[in-house]
Amino acid sequence: MQILDGKFLAAQIKAEIKSEVDLILSEGKRAPHLVAVLIGSDPASQTYVKSKAKHAEAVGIRSSVYELDASTTQAQLIELIWSLNQDDSVDGYIVQLPLPKHLDESKIIEAIAPHKDVDGFHPVNLGLMVAGNQNAFIPATPFGILEIFRRYSISTTGKKVAVIGRSLIVGTPISILMSRNTEPGNATVTLLHSKSNHVKEVCLDSDIIIAAIGKKDFVTADMVKEGAVIIDVGINRVDGKIYGDVDFENVAAKCSAITPVPGGVGLLTITSLLQNTLKSYKLKQS
Ligand code: NAP
Repeated sequence: MQILDGKFLAAQIKAEIKSEVDLILSEGKRAPHLVAVLIGSDPASQTYVKSKAKHAEAVGIRSSVYELDASTTQAQLIELIWSLNQDDSVDGYIVQLPLPKHLDESKIIEAIAPHKDVDGFHPVNLGLMVAGNQNAFIPATPFGILEIFRRYSISTTGKKVAVIGRSLIVGTPISILMSRNTEPGNATVTLLHSKSNHVKEVCLDSDIIIAAIGKKDFVTADMVKEGAVIIDVGINRVDGKIYGDVDFENVAAKCSAITPVPGGVGLLTITSLLQNTLKSYKLKQS
């Protein structure tokens, strides 16, 4: 059984980004610039934003954070978004989700200029992704999952893939990416959700399981075929510890490869954001 080591891959990807940024700087050009907008004081969101900023700076990407009060109005946030859309020094930005309840998430995402939407959540980017357009920003977590398949040379062509969870940020985009006519991709995908009646049967028949549910120990060993590949996206905080969606110990004994939590997909979600920021910078220069 192989551990799919997110820490190792993230270090490799960061080194590649850093050498590209070093080259850009050596040519006397400005560094790529990533902005994060954080509204309110949700501790998990604060941790994510800090971590994103730290990783960006480590590879030479300039990072700025706008911290706004939880009472920020929709109009105030849209005004900031418009100013970031206009600001030529900003290559990409993210609005950290979830937003306080009084803000309309869809309207906020739709206000982001698609060419600066490095989270890849804007409907234009989702549409470009579905069309297979190379300029699309692919959402960070699905992009990270593709990197795992690529860099561990796990072929997905012709495989049966079960994706559990259909959110717009993970399950739905990765199900589309896995069924595209490319490698990674070319898989036969079943997208499972809370209304699915046959989750266990589909999983047992799958070569690859991608779990993005948000429930600790959801995927148990009796749901997994011998030799399957398991990608665990879940991040569940229980008693101060972080767990995935997969019963790691028992499933690991049965599968051929598995991502740990922590130390798996989460780290690649951050590097994907950095890759998208560099891509945005380069698209602007071309
Ligand atoms: P989400 O928006 O809450 O979606 C959860 C999905 O799971 C929904 O589609 C839901 O179905 C489905 N589901 C719930 N109970 C189910 C059941 N009993 N059987 C089958 N499907 C079920 O979650 P998300 O944003 O995609 O996140 C999922 C997990 O990944 C969370 O733990 C989150 O923290 C983590 N995450 C990690 C990263 C990372 O970087 N590693 C990034 C993003 C998210 P319905 O649609 O029918 O409700």
